[in-house]
Amino acid sequence: MIPSDVLDELRLMLGEGLSTGKSDLSLHGQSETWHAEMPPDAVAYPRDTGQVAAIVAICARHGIPVIGWGAGTALEGHGSAPRGGVTVDFRHMNAVLEVRAEDMLVRVQPGCTREDLNRELRASGLMFPVDPGANASLGGMASTRASGTTALRYGTMRDQVRGLEVVLADGRIIRTGTQARKSSAGYDLTALFVGSEGTLGLITELTLRLHGQPEAVSAAVCGFETTEGAIDAVILATQMGLTPARMEYVDTATVRILNAADGADLPETPHLLLEFHGSDTAVAEDAARFGEIAGDLGGSGYAWATRPEDRTRLWSMRHRAYHTILATRPGATAIVTDVCVPISRLGEAIARASADIDASPLDGPILGHVGDGNYHAILMVDRASPAEITEAKRLSDAMVAHALDLGGTATGEHGVGLGKLHLMEAEHGAAWDVMGAIKRALDPDGVMNPGKLVRQN
Ligand SMILES: Cc1cc2nc3c(=O)[nH]c(=O)nc-3n(C[C@H](O)[C@H](O)[C@H](O)COP(=O)(O)OP(=O)(O)OC[C@H]3O[C@@H](n4cnc5c(N)ncnc54)[C@H](O)[C@@H]3O)c2cc1C
Repeated sequence: MIPSDVLDELRLMLGEGLSTGKSDLSLHGQSETWHAEMPPDAVAYPRDTGQVAAIVAICARHGIPVIGWGAGTALEGHGSAPRGGVTVDFRHMNAVLEVRAEDMLVRVQPGCTREDLNRELRASGLMFPVDPGANASLGGMASTRASGTTALRYGTMRDQVRGLEVVLADGRIIRTGTQARKSSAGYDLTALFVGSEGTLGLITELTLRLHGQPEAVSAAVCGFETTEGAIDAVILATQMGLTPARMEYVDTATVRILNAADGADLPETPHLLLEFHGSDTAVAEDAARFGEIAGDLGGSGYAWATRPEDRTRLWSMRHRAYHTILATRPGATAIVTDVCVPISRLGEAIARASADIDASPLDGPILGHVGDGNYHAILMVDRASPAEITEAKRLSDAMVAHALDLGGTATGEHGVGLGKLHLMEAEHGAAWDVMGAIKRALDPDGVMNPGKLVRQN
């Protein structure tokens, strides 16, 4: 519980921008997935960096946890408050501050969502490409080092963030990076804060790279008799220098669900969904070359479309897939796995995961960003069933152990939060202690999003 005089101090500064309403606390303690609700004691809605610094300084003085909140779409209990405290919701700090078209850069506040940014950019011929499906905030996406369907061509948040403004645990405000294309000036603090999940400080401004809107876009769908055929097509296309903007895999179970719920009308086999960006000629050539590769590897029904409405239909179906899958079991939630392996080992990883799921009583359709070696099993569980949650965790941990053996990682894009904390020692060894040392150096009292990502002191 936060002492009442501290709440008074916060309320004096924030006025109506401080909430202790039950439903608001509950909302900010929830996660999109299986994690139990862990509400904060108060939610703050700052309007500028000065207010964020003041909130952090007040909380730090009293040892009260501070947790950042963007759109709340993270999947591993990232934004929950296991030790209570103040959640800082950035929804009012959502401005696009400056578009520097000539430098292909934009400055935004952290609460701006990727869809709002792209709406603002539409007339400029520029776009922000990272697309995790959910309409996440750019501050949250930087904090989880998010990626998604388009990372294959454009990279992840790691590649887009040029600089940050950050409020540190002691209330200091620092700027990292510059607007220059490159720099050798010391430690890369921007890279340190990207992916730090709010455990080192709160991001109050981001400078992001922009990209030109592609002249032409085509989308394609291709069925395969086997998963191996689909993955071999991905590997061969990559080796031949094709760089689709998106290259997504859906397994047979997912196809069945999309057919039934979304009218996808696809043969019940594994499929790849692709999108190509470039000039009219390049897009047509790339799509045709992929068709040849797929044909050689048992692909069939290869069809590509350039009409925006066809592409939109395909990708909105893909983006809805998580919720469409969950809807097959009313009331269910999920443990969503997120391993990422070198592309040459992806076939083995998916084959082992599929066999384990088939042998388990749980359902777990598999889909993913296979061009990056990243896939997700949606392990559906009843939140009220400890046995199901234990089984899903067993399956998930086995996938991670195998991925680590193959030279991969426990999480390609979702991050650590609470749910993957127990896997960090196995992945990083002594390097995880170094992360802990950085945390202690920047946040000695452990007030920034405590209990997540690193071992606490
Ligand atoms: C259906 C669905 C599909 C998804 N698909 C993908 C996908 O393909 N790829 C992918 O990468 N992710 C995916 N995600 C996960 C999620 O969208 C990402 O993790 C996203 O980056 C979270 O952004 P957010 O704004 O919702 O952040 P939140 O959930 O609000 O916060 C995430 C973390 O960042 C911290 N944080 C938030 N704002 C700040 C700030 N300003 N300063 C410091 N810390 C802050 C929070 O404390 C928390 O630890 C998916 C989620 C859903 C629901």
